[in-house]
Amino acid sequence: MSDNAALIARRERLLGRNMSLFYDDPVHLVRGEGVWLWDADGRRYLDCYNNVPHVGHCHPRVVEAITRQASTLNTHTRYLHEGILDYVERLTATFDSSLDAAILTCTGSEANDVALRMAQAVTGRTGVIATNHTYHGNTAAVSQLSTRMPPVGGFGGHVRHVPAPDSYRPLGGEAFAAAFAAAVEAAIASLQESPHGFSALIIDPFFANEGFPDLPRGFLDKAVAAVRKAGGLVITDEVQPGFGRTGSDMWGHQRAGIVPDIVTLGKPMANGHPVGGVVANADVLNAFRKAFRYFNTFGGNPVSCAAAMAVLDVIEDEKLVENARDVGEYTRDAFKSLAQKHTIIGDVRGSGLFMGMEFVADRATKEPAVAEASRIVNEMRERGVLMGKIGIHQCATKIRPPMPFSRENADLMLSVFDDVLSGL
Ligand code: PMP
Repeated sequence: MSDNAALIARRERLLGRNMSLFYDDPVHLVRGEGVWLWDADGRRYLDCYNNVPHVGHCHPRVVEAITRQASTLNTHTRYLHEGILDYVERLTATFDSSLDAAILTCTGSEANDVALRMAQAVTGRTGVIATNHTYHGNTAAVSQLSTRMPPVGGFGGHVRHVPAPDSYRPLGGEAFAAAFAAAVEAAIASLQESPHGFSALIIDPFFANEGFPDLPRGFLDKAVAAVRKAGGLVITDEVQPGFGRTGSDMWGHQRAGIVPDIVTLGKPMANGHPVGGVVANADVLNAFRKAFRYFNTFGGNPVSCAAAMAVLDVIEDEKLVENARDVGEYTRDAFKSLAQKHTIIGDVRGSGLFMGMEFVADRATKEPAVAEASRIVNEMRERGVLMGKIGIHQCATKIRPPMPFSRENADLMLSVFDDVLSGL
C-alpha cells in the first residue's frame, strides 16, 4: 500500500468515511511558508487556493504573537482582559459606524448560528432566506440552509431558498438584479404567510460558494430594500471575501455598496488559528445577549485575539489589500489572454485575489465542462500548483491564494495552467 493509501485508510478508520479530501491523489502536507507548501516527500507546491493562511503560511509575526501570548496567559473568557477589547476596537473601526460591537467565536459556522439568533432576538421571528447554492456552516441551524447536503427530513418550514445570482447565465437576462430582488420578495411573502414570519436574509455578498458571479455595484440594493421594508435583517457572511481579499475594500459588503445589520467572519481572521466573529450594532448585540444569555468558552480568548490582531497588523503593514488588487488584476488580464487561445475557458471573473473561470464544452451553449474542470485541477496539482473547484455547475476554478501572492507567483501558475490546457 502506498503511504497515501495507508493514511487514507487510517483516516477512514479513525475519523470516519466521506471526509472531504482534495484531489484524486490527495496531498500529504507537512510544512508551509508564505505561498508555499511542502509534502512529506519534500516536494514544493504553489498554494493558489488557501484563504485561511491569509497573510501567508506560518507568517512569523502571527507565530510570534501566538507564542508570546500562549506563554503569558490563555484562559476562558469570563475574566477581564484587554486583548479582546483592543481587537474589537480595531476590527470595528474598519466597518460602517453603525457596526460598532462584536462577539468572537471559534468558527464561521458558530458566527452564522449566532447571527441567525440575533435576527430572531431583534425581530421575534425565525424565517430565513438564503441562496440555493450556498454554504454557511455546519451547526444544526445553519446546515438547514445548505442545498448541497439537504438536511435529514428536508428543510425546515422556516427556510426559503432563492436562486443564486449567475452573471454568466443570468436569470432574467440583463435585469437580473431585479430578478434576484423579485425572488427575495416572493420568499419574504411566503414566510410572512407562514407561522415563522420573516427574520433575515443571509448572503455572502461576493457569493463565493456560488461561483463568485461578476455583479455590478448596487446589485443587492433592491433585495436589501425589500428586506428592510419587511422589517427583516440583512446578514452578510464575510467568511470568504472578508479581510481585503477582493482587493477593493476590506469587506465584501462594502464592495457591493450595502450596509448590513449583521456581519459574520471566519476563516482568514487569525491565519489558521480558529477565530470567527459576528459584528453588529451594540443594540442588536444587546438584544441577542438578553434573549439568549450567550457564553463562549474559547471565543475571544487572549491567544486568539493576539493572533487576530497580528493578522490586521500584517494586512496593513504589508499593504496586502493593495497587493490583492494589483496581482488580481494582472492575473485576470493574463487569464483573459489565455481565453483567446483556449476555447474551454468560457468566462473569467473575480476580484482581487479571489478569481477563477468557468470551463465550458461549447461557448455558444455554455455547456459546463465538469469532467474537464476536475481533470485540470488534478493536473495542476500533479504539476505542483494547488487550486480548487466550485460553482453552481462545479465547472469553475477557485483561485484564492494567500494575500502576499506576487506577480511572479502568478506567472508560474499561469504558465503551468497554459501547459495543462494545451495538453487536454
Ligand atoms: N460561511 C461560508 C461562506 C463558508 O464558506 C464557510 C466554510 N466553508 C462557513 C461559513 C463555515 O465556516 P467554518 O468551517 O469555520 O465553520
